[in-house]
Amino acid sequence: MHPLPGNVAGLACKAENTIEIDPNLSPSKALEVAVHEALHLADWGLSERKVKYRAKYIAEVLWAQGYRKK
Ligand SMILES: [Zn+2]
Repeated sequence: MHPLPGNVAGLACKAENTIEIDPNLSPSKALEVAVHEALHLADWGLSERKVKYRAKYIAEVLWAQGYRKK
């Protein structure tokens, strides 16, 4: 694993089907970034704007259900 560049919170790699997440994010932000990057992998054609909106929404629902990073 290589360091994430600059202010990047997460990265999705299509070729390797992997996600990298900044380990220093708050638990709620980490959840949102995980969903965000997963959405990129699930639908590479989805625009950044659409990924952002959906990830925020889904992360809020998961957070309300009690999903958090340990
Ligand atoms: Zn993105």
